[in-house]
Amino acid sequence: MKNLHWFLFSAFFLISACNQAQQVTDKNTSLKTTTEIGATLAPELLVDEVVKVEKPEEEWKTELTKEEYYVLREKGTERSFTGDLWDHKGEGTYVCAACELPLFSSVTKFKSGTGWPSYYAPVDEKYVATLEDKKHGWNRVEVLCARCDGHLGHVFEDGPAPTGLRYCINSVSLDFVPSVK
Ligand code: FE
Repeated sequence: MKNLHWFLFSAFFLISACNQAQQVTDKNTSLKTTTEIGATLAPELLVDEVVKVEKPEEEWKTELTKEEYYVLREKGTERSFTGDLWDHKGEGTYVCAACELPLFSSVTKFKSGTGWPSYYAPVDEKYVATLEDKKHGWNRVEVLCARCDGHLGHVFEDGPAPTGLRYCINSVSLDFVPSVK
């Protein structure tokens, strides 16, 4: 009986220790990720508060290229593997092509094999908005720039750790700003 008590005590101690170690590891991972993302950002692009940019469609038409207007304002989709950022590598920030809000960092970019630039997290949750999209019989979640309401792409729940999310974004909706070292 004494041996059983000792075994149960040891097992409990071991499980508690493992849980604590897991929590410490998770905390370190998320802190490291936040610091790395911060290092790639152009500080002048960051905003504390997202103030909406609203313009008449005619104005957007003169400011954006034909392709940008089609994707950002008319919620179009570029053909996969045709954009200039799906296979783009480099340290920096991917900003909104219409209003320059820093949307995604190179730290969270990953190879998805879809032919569209993919990220597992935005620079800041408040920089992107989401909307239910039931067009074409699909049940998807649309991602928009929170400042200018430009259409970016969609977010899916089959992404990698640490978020499990896949932000599938049109290259046309983004411009790349390399980090300054
Ligand atoms: Fe924008």
